[in-house]
Amino acid sequence: MSRRKPSTSQLAIVDRNGEADGRQIAKKDRKLSFGERWTYAPAPEASNYIKLRDRYQLFINGRFVAPKSGEYFDSINPATEEKLTEIGSANEKDVDLAVKAARRAYKTVWSKMPGRERGKYLFRIARLIQEKARELAVLETMDGGKTIKESREIALPFVAAHFFYYAGWADKLEYAFPGRKARPLGVAGQIIPWNFPLLMAAWKLAPALACGNTCVLKPAETTSITALHLAEIFQEAGLPDGVVNIVTGAGETGGAIVNHSDIDKIAFTGSTEVGKRIASATAGTKKKLTLELGGKAANIIFDDAPIDQAVEGIIAGIYFNQGHVCCAGSRLFVQENVFPTVIRKLRDRISTLRVGDPLDKNSDIGAINSRAQLDKICELVDSGLKQGAQLVQARARLPARGYWYPPSFFTGVTASHRIAQEEIFGPVLSVMTFRTPEEAIARANNTPYGLSAGVWTDKGSKIFKIVNQLRAGVVWANTYNKFDPSSPFGGYKESGFGREGGRHGLLPYLTLS
Ligand code: NAP
Ligand code: MG
Repeated sequence: MSRRKPSTSQLAIVDRNGEADGRQIAKKDRKLSFGERWTYAPAPEASNYIKLRDRYQLFINGRFVAPKSGEYFDSINPATEEKLTEIGSANEKDVDLAVKAARRAYKTVWSKMPGRERGKYLFRIARLIQEKARELAVLETMDGGKTIKESREIALPFVAAHFFYYAGWADKLEYAFPGRKARPLGVAGQIIPWNFPLLMAAWKLAPALACGNTCVLKPAETTSITALHLAEIFQEAGLPDGVVNIVTGAGETGGAIVNHSDIDKIAFTGSTEVGKRIASATAGTKKKLTLELGGKAANIIFDDAPIDQAVEGIIAGIYFNQGHVCCAGSRLFVQENVFPTVIRKLRDRISTLRVGDPLDKNSDIGAINSRAQLDKICELVDSGLKQGAQLVQARARLPARGYWYPPSFFTGVTASHRIAQEEIFGPVLSVMTFRTPEEAIARANNTPYGLSAGVWTDKGSKIFKIVNQLRAGVVWANTYNKFDPSSPFGGYKESGFGREGGRHGLLPYLTLS
């Protein structure tokens, strides 16, 4: 399997001066690349004050406890492959203890507490997250590989904003659904992925708690550390014991939550494959279910779009967070007459992106989350080359250790290629063309997924026409990847069902009568 430099004639490498096929030009004849002329000095975020524990235990009933299995797994830094710490592996018995603690807390404290009191706890948690935002951002970057720019400036502020937002709803549920009585469901089992560890935890916990439910949360195996630091914040905020329980472990731990008989609701974010398994495991039980699964979003550029602005949006849409984004704009449809311009600009732009140390404030693209994910990206890129597409890849100096993939895009892609159909979940874009708006809509909708989409055009009327026909939960117009706690997010088709965020995000955690 090729990793960084697929040796094939279908590969063009772009240099930092935007030059294609730099490989084939003799070094003496080559213009000095951008990176060779000058480069930024390293600007690492300080991490020496971060205190990682040697071992992280489970958080059950307000306390950190050793797993019954006695087993721990390593958590590594994907940018260095160094072991950061060990994390407890929860088995069925641990999950059972967590569910019992959550049930007790639900019955005796949390469901009885007036909404305004629950809201106070959530406000306190939000403020503590703000206070510790820098430390949490560094931890998130060390554990997951995302750049410090993203974890500090996007993820953490948004995590706090989410708790603030739902804190505000806690005493207003009767106004959220006028004329109806809103009641909590009970115990929620929540399973989250590794791409936005704290943000996914906030998306799950904040609305559930605001509505009066108690929670058992399982973070992803590769990114459990920050959830356990969040548990410390719950302790500091004085959150009653058992209201939130955090059980770490692999897929089996998630399975034990899904199959536990005393859970009222399962909320899952992750792959469509596991989502389908959870849907069949919960079918016919009392458990309510929401699923936020994969995506293969289409970004559509019309010839009347402001092309420079569109290219920036496309870059942000696919290379943000190493492409580890379920709503990443991973398919690009370009109107045929502007295709050469868009490709040239994309090529130039990816050659300026910096791949490297995620803790460096200058890095645009950090580390791929795990070796397994890197292998998956490489396998799909290989399939694209085998099926006849052409790959353009930035010439990035990748660190010797760690998991890395340079920003890349494919041209010559057809709808039947795997790279046009399957979620790559990495910094790889598939570019295709269209002639008419009808063709753009039909091709954009030609996917089993339906999470998000983007439209770039100067004409407001065209935006309205197109967005109403795109089968996607979120459609951005002349922008991409914009989020706010007050706007709902979720999918159609195999991207799942249920909404997170906004007033809609309360519904999965309530019964209305
Ligand atoms: P995943 O396997 O679906 O994992 C998501 C969460 O579910 C993790 O906490 C995982 O635990 C847990 N899990 C795994 N098997 C389970 C089971 N049988 N029952 C209950 N829980 C289970 O996703 P992934 O391995 O992290 O990534 C695989 C693919 O999913 C990615 O390549 C991408 O295509 C997609 N993905 C989508 C999103 C999204 O936001 N929509 C996010 C991440 C990934 P472990 O982590 O310990 O396995
Ligand atoms: Mg890790």
